[in-house]
Amino acid sequence: MHAQHCHAYNEGVTSSILNADLHCHSVVSDGTLTPEALAARAKANGVELWALTDHDEIGGQDRALVAAHANGMKYLTGTEISVTFANKTVHIVGLGFDADNEQLRTGLQRTRGGRSERAQEMSDGLAKVGIHGAYEGALKYVGNPELISRTHFARYLVESGVCQDTHEVFRRFLTEGHPGFVPHRWATLKDAVQWIVQAQGMAIIAHPGRYGFTANEEFALFTEFKHHGGQGVEVVTGSHTPAEFVTYADMAQEFDLFASRGSDFHSPTESRIDLGTLPWLPGQLTPVWEALAHRIQ
Ligand code: AMP
Ligand code: MN
Ligand code: MN
Ligand code: MN
Repeated sequence: MHAQHCHAYNEGVTSSILNADLHCHSVVSDGTLTPEALAARAKANGVELWALTDHDEIGGQDRALVAAHANGMKYLTGTEISVTFANKTVHIVGLGFDADNEQLRTGLQRTRGGRSERAQEMSDGLAKVGIHGAYEGALKYVGNPELISRTHFARYLVESGVCQDTHEVFRRFLTEGHPGFVPHRWATLKDAVQWIVQAQGMAIIAHPGRYGFTANEEFALFTEFKHHGGQGVEVVTGSHTPAEFVTYADMAQEFDLFASRGSDFHSPTESRIDLGTLPWLPGQLTPVWEALAHRIQ
């Protein structure tokens, strides 16, 4: 990076007023846009610092970095790791890691393993309630054969007219207690955090408002996460209500965590919040991009 450019940039990041979008998905996981199309859309919406965070996968990172630079944006490497904690699925975002790190790559590959078998079982469950061919139907939407997800099933069930939109599919078929739901054991919290941290990245609790934890479970999550070396929490995300921005801004301060901002954008037709259009981070918080300034590319 040009030294003068670097200096000017670092002046900008000392503020929480930066259009950073550090959470979104491409066709490499369950998004519908390519890394290049996401970069162009982020740029058009005024994003200055971007990260692509595909589920359990970093296969899109090289393309995303090139596309970010082609659009004049700064970039942080990213991923979103699926974790099982207290019998629920929790997501841990990793930012600013070395994408060539072997332990991280192996860990992600292990986490992806088992998705195909799970998808077959989901399809069997759906067949029992009269929805046939869901596995093959979902596969039509899959961009990465190692990453078939519930989202791809949701798109197929909308296409085949079973439901009006993907949210209805999740509510009726793909969540606990419903016919297409298959319990799955993902990575442990400890492993996910350590894979990221030993690769020089920062581990961040994704959208904590989404898990439906009791206060005790949430306290345990934050405490254990910190114990394993986690340092950040998403405060302003497309998955939080404005009231949750306040709740988790308080949690960030209580647990002394850096704060992150990301849309969790998946698709122009399915996502509530577009890339780069979230409110600013509350000013009293320290943004993750300050702590990760040395990892920005
Ligand atoms: P999986 O990793 O296969 O369990 O799929 C999880 C993905 O499903 C999440 O990353 C979201 O993209 C999507 N998802 C989960 N819950 C919902 C919901 N209620 N409505 C729409 N999409 C959802
Ligand atoms: Mn997703
Ligand atoms: Mn998530
Ligand atoms: Mn996500």
